[in-house]
Amino acid sequence: MKTNSNYDIIIAGGGPGGVAAAVAAAREGAKVLIIEQTGCLGGMGTSGLVPAWTPFSDGENICYRGIAFEVFEKLKEKMPTVDKTKIDWVPICAEELKIIYDDMLIESGAKVIFHSFVCDAESENGEIKSITVANKAGLTKYTAKVYVDATGDGDLAFFSGAEFQKGGENGELQASSLCFAISNINIEAYKDIPVLNAGNHKSQIYDIISDERFPLITDDHFCDHIINRGTVGFNAGHIWDGDSEKVEEMSELMMKGRKIAHEYKNALADYFPDAFGESSVTATANVMGTRESRRIIGEYVFTAEDYIEKRSFNDEIGRNCYYIDIHGEQRKNTFYKDEKDHGEFHYEKGESHGIPYRSLVPKGFSNLLTCGRIISCDRMTYGSLRVMPTCLVTGQAAGTAASLIIKSDCRATDVDIKLLREKLIENGAYIK
Ligand SMILES: Cc1cc2nc3c(=O)[nH]c(=O)nc-3n(C[C@H](O)[C@H](O)[C@H](O)COP(=O)(O)OP(=O)(O)OC[C@H]3O[C@@H](n4cnc5c(N)ncnc54)[C@H](O)[C@@H]3O)c2cc1C
Repeated sequence: MKTNSNYDIIIAGGGPGGVAAAVAAAREGAKVLIIEQTGCLGGMGTSGLVPAWTPFSDGENICYRGIAFEVFEKLKEKMPTVDKTKIDWVPICAEELKIIYDDMLIESGAKVIFHSFVCDAESENGEIKSITVANKAGLTKYTAKVYVDATGDGDLAFFSGAEFQKGGENGELQASSLCFAISNINIEAYKDIPVLNAGNHKSQIYDIISDERFPLITDDHFCDHIINRGTVGFNAGHIWDGDSEKVEEMSELMMKGRKIAHEYKNALADYFPDAFGESSVTATANVMGTRESRRIIGEYVFTAEDYIEKRSFNDEIGRNCYYIDIHGEQRKNTFYKDEKDHGEFHYEKGESHGIPYRSLVPKGFSNLLTCGRIISCDRMTYGSLRVMPTCLVTGQAAGTAASLIIKSDCRATDVDIKLLREKLIENGAYIK
């Protein structure tokens, strides 16, 4: 097998976590490579067509700063349909976001190889020796000084033998959704439609659910955002029993997801002809919207108690305020009644918690870091930490820490926390 040893830091996966890690590390002067299985950067925000950022503010302050806020502001500038003063639930145009990530990566000096899958790793006593990448050139071994797992599923950590947890006690997982876009909508008529999402008990989504003509629309999860002129992006409906490791089942669920998208379009055209009468589905995500997979056990496991107590940490690298949002079993075939039924826990305005650096370090590993939704936490707080602004924040921290590991030639656990925090603050991070 060929070997490539051209890089200091290799990042598996180019979603929000991976891009932020790469940009942060390259801005510190490291030679960085992202290995990405699709043909673009951005992960769920681009390939996954997730149509909006979760709130960037805690109700009083901007909670996700540094590279996260940079991406957010750049995208707003590019979107003619977005109110530039808006901070919370701002829509995402996936095509614009792809270019923003491309440009940020190129400007930082980091490199990416697309259509390349990290499929194996060799590790010894908590040190990754090499990883194997599959692509059109066949199998290639890559070696680097530090690796960052930003795959969203913890593939690299898993292949390296890191400890992980997945789902609940009985293996139950949050529901998935295949996001999609519908175009040629009459936006003025669309704006007149009463809110359709769960929580609005009078929403006509409940009429659609009980309408026998639309059997694939079975629950009230419905988020819709104007992502471009005449185009609305949807994160709607739940697909149950999706486990990213069960590839045959996931492939069937992808096909089901596409059918669901078309059924939504048909239902919306039927119920709201003024808005959707002339519309069509113009995109379905090319990756399943998997909300839950592996959580890599780190040097610290962030817990629900930490979240509820709004704890700050001496090794805090950023903050998070998103609510605990678990698309769990309790939503299956039930309608939204109150927040408890929905598996939610919300902060008050201005409240947030710290994210410890130790939650980015897989237990016992010297040259591996994690970022994005796989960081070390319990199942409850995974429901909060998994969102994109938080993933960008942990990505920036992982990339900065990786560059410090190289500069000081130390283990991941021995990073100079004071220096890490100083660098992050210098680069815009929000840390208490
Ligand atoms: C249906 C759904 C709706 C959501 N809604 C919202 C929302 O409204 N707002 C919000 O902010 N967040 C939302 N989220 C959460 C958020 O989108 C994800 O949790 C977040 O994108 C995770 O970021 P990440 O960088 O960890 O992983 P991802 O975004 O999943 O990116 C991982 C990247 O790694 C690549 N990859 C994976 N495995 C490999 C491998 N072995 N080799 C090479 N490349 C690999 C993937 O192709 C991908 O590009 C939603 C998630 C889902 C699933």
